This record gives sequence, C-alpha cells and structure tokens, in this order.
Amino acid sequence: MYSDTLNLLDKIESSRSLSLEEYKELIEGYSAHVAEYAAEKARRIRNKVYGNKVFIRGLIEISNICRNDCLYCGIRRSNANCDRYRLTKQQIIDCCREGYSLGFRTFVLQGGEDPCFSVKTVCEIVKEIKTLFPDCAVTLSLGEYSKEDYSAMYDAGADRYLLRHETADKDHYGKLHPEKMSFENRMRCLYDLKDIGFQTGCGFMVGSPYQTSQTLAKDLKFIETFAPEMCGIGPFISHKDTPFHDKQSGTAEMTCYLLSIIRIMHPNILLPSTTALGTVDPLGRELGIKAGANVLMPNLSPGNVRKKYMLYDNKICTGDESAQCRKCLDARMKSIGYEVVVDRGDFKKQ
Ligand code: SAH
Repeated sequence: MYSDTLNLLDKIESSRSLSLEEYKELIEGYSAHVAEYAAEKARRIRNKVYGNKVFIRGLIEISNICRNDCLYCGIRRSNANCDRYRLTKQQIIDCCREGYSLGFRTFVLQGGEDPCFSVKTVCEIVKEIKTLFPDCAVTLSLGEYSKEDYSAMYDAGADRYLLRHETADKDHYGKLHPEKMSFENRMRCLYDLKDIGFQTGCGFMVGSPYQTSQTLAKDLKFIETFAPEMCGIGPFISHKDTPFHDKQSGTAEMTCYLLSIIRIMHPNILLPSTTALGTVDPLGRELGIKAGANVLMPNLSPGNVRKKYMLYDNKICTGDESAQCRKCLDARMKSIGYEVVVDRGDFKKQ
C-alpha cells in the first residue's frame, strides 16, 4: 500500500530515524507517486535550510593511477586500456586559479590511490592552495590513509574529505572489491575522518551489482547514524573494461528517490547532484536538485586529461572547458528556479 510508504516518509521527517525493516519497506515501496511526495518534502526541507542556492565545487582529477582494483571502476589497476596521467602541483594550482576566477570557492582534489601522492605531497599542495586562496575550502577525495596521515592533511588546512563507504553491507562490499580491500578499513577511515574534525562525506552507487533493498536499507541506516556532513550518491554505470562491463546501470529515478530520503533524514546535509546522474539522464542534475540535492561538482581538470578520468562509460562534460561548464550549470539551474552561488558552501550546523 502506498499510503504506508508515505507514512514512513512522514515518520523520517518527524523522528529522523527508521528501523532497518522500515527502510527496506520504504525502498520496496518506491513508485513515481511516492517519489514525488518524497521530492516535494525534500525540496521544502532543503529550501528552508539553503534557500534556492546551489553550491558548486570545482573537481580536479589529480591522477588516474590507482593501486586498487575495485571491480566497478574504470581506472582500476588491472585496466590496461586506461591511459594513465598524474597532474603536477603546478597544474593543480593552475586549475584552482582558473576555478577561482570562475567563482569557485571550494576545490575538490580527487584521484585514484596513487602512491606518488604521499601524505607529504598532499599536505604541500593543500598548504599552497590555502595560502594562495585563503577564502576557499579544500576537499580531498583520495581514498584510504592512516589516521595519522588524515590528521596531517587536516592540520595542513584541508577542510573536508569525501570517502564513499560504497556499501554498508560487508558481504556486498566483498562482491564489489578485491579481497585485499576491506570493509572494516573503509569504515575505520570514515570514523577517523569524522573524529579528526573534517566535514566528512560518505556515499554509495545506486544500482551497483548485487545491491538489494536489504543492502540499501543498511546504507540508509548507516547514513542515519553516522550523520555525515556530506553524502555522494549517484547511479552505478558500467565501464567496458571492467568485470562489471555487462551489468545494468542504476536509474535516475531510484537515485532521486534516495536523495530525497537522505535530505528528509538530514535536513542540513550537503548533497551533490552528481555527474553520474547527469550521465544516465540528460536532465539528471536538474532532477537531483529538484529531489533535494544542493551541490554540483563540475569538472575543473585540464582539458587534455578529462577523457582519461573515466570511472564509467559515456561520462558527460569531458569535452568542455571549465568556463563552459560553469555557464551551462548556471543556465540549467536558472531554468528550474535555482541559483548557483559564489560561496565556500560549508555545512550548516543548525
Ligand atoms: N580513490 C578515491 C576516489 C574514487 S572515485 C576513493 O577511493 O574514494 C569516486 C567515486 O566514484 C567512487 O567512490 C565510486 O563510488 C564512484 N564510481 C567509481 N566507479 C563508478 C562507476 N562505474 N559508476 C558510477 N560511479 C562510480
């Protein structure tokens, strides 16, 4: 009965918590009608906290060299067809400079787990960015390090760290990753990051292989209790050179439904409408914002490396200039009554 599902949505709004069983029912109760009810609620909650403002983050893809072999990812170590690159410190700074002039006040450094980006190197780069652009926030999304290393990055001035948990179910984690990687270490990293004081982001792919309503319920329960400042969710999209090349991609509909649920659960959370969402649907990013997201993360990487950071097939915006992306997003947001702002876009505590 869909009225039961609507009641569950009301219940998250009032109590900010559901049981695992209720989250499962909520997911299984998906329909277009229920999703619209969730989106309306999420929009109202989001507008109360952040108005119609959309924060932008300049994403700089600093390296596609990776020691890991995640089964879903196009830049996994065993993909011999991936043309590898690594940006220099100077190239990264140049991206920030261009981004700054385009109105970006947050830079996100993302990459594979490239051994050349040692904690020392990362700290040097963070310090330099913070010295040159003191009014900007730096977000890191560079994978797993020790607590000591994360602390050093925080002390160097990094403000936020994104590390998707990928799935909150240990068995499911094992089906998405090689044996060498561990669910426990991923979780350890997230708790360390939060403990150190980073604005911390977790997240997962929607429709990843072997995902079920049970594993999704665990993701929602984890997000409820971990209470991250940010949460990155986007559809899984297959990549031709991975073991998951023939697996089905996730849908924009389910992604938007989950964005709404997460917004209702955590009214202040920073929630991006992802590039992957814009890849499965030409209006995906607009749909994500309308479902309760409040962040966009366009690409600021140098033009000649954009096609090389292919986590999945058909990624959008790989042929565009940063300035073009910025203009395009302005227009897209305006078309749905939202406005891209020049702002660090920090998490609002209350
Ligand atoms: N090395 C960093 C950054 C990983 S890339 C880290 O470990 O955190 C950022 C995110 O892209 C991943 O966390 C994953 O959720 C997502 N991603 C990777 N492959 C994908 C695919 N095929 N489809 C959709 N998203 C993908």
